[in-house]
Amino acid sequence: MDENKNGKKNIGKKILDGIRYGLGFNKNPAYVAEYMHEANVRSAAYMSLVVIALEIWMLIRYVKKYVVTGKCATFGIFWHYTRYYWIFLFCALIVFAYSLLFLYGKIKKNRAVTALFTVFLSSVCLYFGMITSFTDFEKGKMIICFLTMVLYVGCLLIWRPFISAFMLTGIAVAFTYWINNYAVDDKTGIPIQLGDGDTVNYITYFISLTMVAVSIYFQRYREAKKAQSLADAMVTDDVTGMPNIRKFRTEASKYVKTCMSEEKKPAYVFFNVENFLTYNDRFGYEKGNEFLKILGGIIEDHFPGEPCARDTEDHFVVVSCRDNLADRIGQIREAFRKGYKKEIYLDLKAGIFRPSDPDADPILELNKARIACSHLKNREELYIIEYDEKMDKQYRLRQYVLNNIDKAVKEGFIKVYYQPVVWSEDGKLCGCEALARWDDPETGFLSPGVFIPVLEECRQIHKLDRCIYETVCKSMRECMDKGLPVFPVSLNFSRLDFELMDVVAELEGLIEKYQIPRDYLHVEITESALTENMSRLQEAMNVLHAKGYSIWLDDFGSGYSSMNVLKDYRFDLLKVDMVFLRNFSGNENSKKIIKSILELAKSLDMMTLTEGVENDEAVKFLQEAGCGRLQGYFYGKPMTLEDILARIADGTYVLSDKFI
Ligand code: C2E
Ligand code: CA
Ligand code: CA
Repeated sequence: MDENKNGKKNIGKKILDGIRYGLGFNKNPAYVAEYMHEANVRSAAYMSLVVIALEIWMLIRYVKKYVVTGKCATFGIFWHYTRYYWIFLFCALIVFAYSLLFLYGKIKKNRAVTALFTVFLSSVCLYFGMITSFTDFEKGKMIICFLTMVLYVGCLLIWRPFISAFMLTGIAVAFTYWINNYAVDDKTGIPIQLGDGDTVNYITYFISLTMVAVSIYFQRYREAKKAQSLADAMVTDDVTGMPNIRKFRTEASKYVKTCMSEEKKPAYVFFNVENFLTYNDRFGYEKGNEFLKILGGIIEDHFPGEPCARDTEDHFVVVSCRDNLADRIGQIREAFRKGYKKEIYLDLKAGIFRPSDPDADPILELNKARIACSHLKNREELYIIEYDEKMDKQYRLRQYVLNNIDKAVKEGFIKVYYQPVVWSEDGKLCGCEALARWDDPETGFLSPGVFIPVLEECRQIHKLDRCIYETVCKSMRECMDKGLPVFPVSLNFSRLDFELMDVVAELEGLIEKYQIPRDYLHVEITESALTENMSRLQEAMNVLHAKGYSIWLDDFGSGYSSMNVLKDYRFDLLKVDMVFLRNFSGNENSKKIIKSILELAKSLDMMTLTEGVENDEAVKFLQEAGCGRLQGYFYGKPMTLEDILARIADGTYVLSDKFI
């Protein structure tokens, strides 16, 4: 019984809703209303433009017909006959100006104001039609002008159906009433009465017009709905159904401003699910998506009414003004861990950043919460962290490096420092390693440990390296020209250099430009660069070998895949990483390892060099172990070319007569 009743109730409600919708009494969604609003203003702009043109035309006609021929003697008469044209022209100009200001975003969009202007313009149009029809020229014939204006008002602007019906019926009644009561035949002076045929024609005209107006309304309505769903798709994340980061950006920007104006303290939160990849691998893509949806839901539930979004992968973002932020994050983590009890490897981490500038770009601000969150990696006990001054300093330095690398290269802030490399047997200088320094007038001296990782991460490292190679070659040429000592220099190559530039062409170009022998430039490639078998790098290495460059394997033993590297690539020299010389004294294992690495290198026909030589003990050991070259603070820290040359000149370094 109840079901029956409910069914009837539903049908009744549906019918009522249908009628309401059909007549246009329903409340339109904000997007649709906005869309219609704009469409109306655009139509108003066209309409007012046409009215302006028409009025000017009318005025020109009048001037040609009466003023030029001398029929209109005084200004008073001229004004009397043209006053309506001037008034309409003025009104149309006002509406046109309003529409332009509105469309170009120069005034605040106010629906009530637009409605006022629309009604105003419509009245002007209709009145113009009537005036022209009944007071001008050969009466009756100009009726077409009035009907055109009705068509204009009814169909160019979008009216809700009930307004169209009401307005057009009203006009139809007024129109027939006026003709029947006031219209007089121009020639005979006899009052005009509409015949049956005319009445039927006019009524049909007004009914058709109403239908057209209603259909235009619904067409526009559907267009607006379509545009809305497209716009929604643009701002919705398809996995979780949450807003995406684009939407978040606009929402967060508004929200932060509102919060700050109310003296509240907003905070950006960046969530990261640790080990989500493992979950995805174990349970597959579908389950992974389901997981993200559930987590997104939990996050939204804990921040009702505040901007939340899914960023990329397993990252979610929120901006909140609530006081108990840490508690909320804790609750989210608890809820999520409760639901995924068995997956103990999963964890939720959150980075927080509290903005102080209401106008800052939310994406950049969010980045700080992201940076904070990245500090939680592999810290099991900690799941929440705030962006602090230390992180800020790092972040600023990073931004500085990225924003200024081009300038630093151009202005010569990038300097080459040379660290001596000696033969272990006699301690004579057999070359140097070129190491980059950034001597910045604003921030001071920057070490490679600061800028190299940033440049690599952002794929800008080739800019720096290109500058180093050129500087080295240029200096070498100058030394040659001046008859100063010249020695081979080893250049550091990042893995990315092989992707971002044509290494062979780059080196060949420099060799050609500065006329330098190829065996005066060594190519150092760090072991960690060679983890993946990269055909491009391998090809470049083959070409470099064929051309006669010596290729050195840097930092051997520092990574996880040292042996694989030896298997897959061919090097001329192996540089033993300095980790083995750390706490070297008394550590028999270190000694054994270094010895066997040196033997391994020899058995593979490679020359050897050990880095990080800091004391006498290391020197003696390496000499006995048969290491070919030595490099380290014991022989000298990286220094300028002038310093190296001065030390060669004063005998501190003795330049060897063999370099290979
Ligand atoms: P790397 O190629 O292994 O360079 C050796 C680093 O160890 C240098 O640090 C050097 O100053 C330092 N070093 C040398 N001898 C000793 C020693 O006896 N004890 C200790 N504790 N350290 C020693 P630096 O100049 O700070 O460079 C760090 C890293 O930055 C370099 O490691 C290299 O990977 C990278 N790098 C430096 N310059 C460039 C460059 O021009 N291009 C590229 N792509 N990377 C560079
Ligand atoms: Ca190196
Ligand atoms: Ca090294």
